[in-house]
Amino acid sequence: MTEAELFPIAMGAWAGIAVAVAMLLLFVTAPYGRHVRGGWGPTLPSTAGWILMELPAVLGFLAFFAAGSRTGDPVNLVFVGLWMLHYGQRTFVFPFLRRGGARPMPLSIVGLGMVFNLANAWFQSRWLNTLGPGYELSWLTDPRFLIGAALFLVGFVLNVSSDAILRNLRAPGETGYRIPEGGLFRWVSSPNYLGEILEWVGWAVATWSLPGALFALWTACNLGPRALANHRWYLETFPDYPPDRKALLPGLL
Ligand code: NDP
Repeated sequence: MTEAELFPIAMGAWAGIAVAVAMLLLFVTAPYGRHVRGGWGPTLPSTAGWILMELPAVLGFLAFFAAGSRTGDPVNLVFVGLWMLHYGQRTFVFPFLRRGGARPMPLSIVGLGMVFNLANAWFQSRWLNTLGPGYELSWLTDPRFLIGAALFLVGFVLNVSSDAILRNLRAPGETGYRIPEGGLFRWVSSPNYLGEILEWVGWAVATWSLPGALFALWTACNLGPRALANHRWYLETFPDYPPDRKALLPGLL
């Protein structure tokens, strides 16, 4: 079977797995961060865990891209830039800025994250550079690209600024939790997740591709249930938690 024949079959399977994972995560919250607990095997410090987990999204994407046939294509290079803006930050900046990086993270979670990131890098990168139809230069002024790229950038700013608010709740070396205030925390408990989902919806629109839509679906399937779990955790942990704050979508959910 060639890669081109495998690709649509893999996309179908990947969509099915995303929905199954969402169902599972509604009942079993991934054991890292505030939800960390025993029984998930050996652990490592979470700073190292984050770097390892996200590395395949950078290295895998670049390796698959380099193996493609449209490497110098200017529109593709814009997409590589957007990808690296997100994953460069997530892999090489975010882990070092976090406070409480010595807290444990299960290796099993890191491993699952690496597998996801490698598979997703393959879908996105190979589509852009070999298996998709490719983009003319005029795509950069197409409304789908402009709207998608704007959504991506708005999501990125929301994600990074919300993570910064969370980070500043702790002094260096602290590991406890407080009620976050400011930014979109006024309305929802996990605006960083909302930003992340917006980013990949924007990517799906800007690339106008099935692999892009699959990544947006995966992000929502992963972070939607976790936003609900975080919200429940806040309500259970802090009796004075703002009662009208929602989990993920202002005024809705
Ligand atoms: P969280 O919001 O749970 O935590 C973000 C950081 O802030 C962590 O360092 C956490 O510490 C700290 N923190 C969180 N809440 C508080 C609080 N109330 N008081 C003090 N410190 C707090 O996000 P995640 O760790 O789940 O995710 C981190 C980033 O990775 C996010 O931007 C998210 O969007 C992204 N991500 C993307 C995924 C995807 O599918 N694309 C999947 C998972 C994450 P601690 O770790 O000690 O709890």
